[in-house]
Amino acid sequence: MKGLVIKTTGPIYSVRDEQGKIYQCRLKGNLRLRDYEFTNPIVVGDIVTFELTGNQDYSISDLDDRKNYIVRKSIKLSKQIHIMAANIDQAVLMITLSHPKTYAEFIDRYLVTSGAYHIPAILLFNKIDLYKEKELEEFNSLFKLYSEIGYTCLSFSALTDSSFEEVRKILKDKITLFSGYSGVGKSTLLNRLDPLLNLKTAIISEAFKGGKHTTTYAEMHELKDIGMVIDTPGIKGLGIIDIPRDEISHYFPEMLKVLKKCKFHNCTHIDEPSCAVKKALEEGEISKSRYKSYLSIFYEEKEKYR
Ligand code: GDP
Ligand code: ZN
Repeated sequence: MKGLVIKTTGPIYSVRDEQGKIYQCRLKGNLRLRDYEFTNPIVVGDIVTFELTGNQDYSISDLDDRKNYIVRKSIKLSKQIHIMAANIDQAVLMITLSHPKTYAEFIDRYLVTSGAYHIPAILLFNKIDLYKEKELEEFNSLFKLYSEIGYTCLSFSALTDSSFEEVRKILKDKITLFSGYSGVGKSTLLNRLDPLLNLKTAIISEAFKGGKHTTTYAEMHELKDIGMVIDTPGIKGLGIIDIPRDEISHYFPEMLKVLKKCKFHNCTHIDEPSCAVKKALEEGEISKSRYKSYLSIFYEEKEKYR
């Protein structure tokens, strides 16, 4: 049988077959040894082959090639990589301008990372019912900025809106990674899309966390008749990816558009003469906040690659 891994709990993997039936499976011994560079051989989003081995015992015997995967962190002092999830069709970032405030640099880092993973990113602006003049202004300008760059952007109030047709369309028949700061309203929206989900919203789940310890695991939820979403509680972003510093600007679509016109082919768009990116910045075609994020990522990468 073939199925989709929707949850991992210690040695037990929850696998969903095409019909939506869930099986609790273990790993066959030989599979545990494969992919030794990873700390976890099977992750949420994996397509696996599994079979009945005992009475009610199912075991995973094979793993399909992954179309992509996102990593959390390599474990210190070893070369091992911890994968968060695999086979992601798109990454949705939920953003709020207050309660909590999502910073532009965080959005830009998310977009750069999703670009480097070749995973299309979509921005959902939530809690628009809360915004006063100042936040509304900020929301309007961010919405315009990211739409013009080419990202799909939607805005709504997960609390007070009555229909989420556009969100449904975006999620339809896809596997979507759902990210955002804790408290932006992810669970609220998902519960509105499928009331049977019954996800705990922030206040309750905070209470369960008990102190500083936060769990970092991924879990896939089925939104009935819509699609699958992957939730990564305790992780607000997309994990890490190593991008050579001279390629960072390639993941800013508005910079990519002009950088061929830079005088130097290896231009870093910082202090070189005849830089098309700097020119576009001066002419207001590239936003100051995007360029600031670029610098921040660039200098951090530079540190890392020295
Ligand atoms: P999560 O941590 O991203 O899953 O956030 P939650 O869904 O738990 O939401 C955090 C809090 O924000 C809850 O108290 C929600 O009721 C509230 N909330 C979510 N969406 C909205 C919204 O659109 N407007 C307002 N005013 N509150 C919202
Ligand atoms: Zn340049």
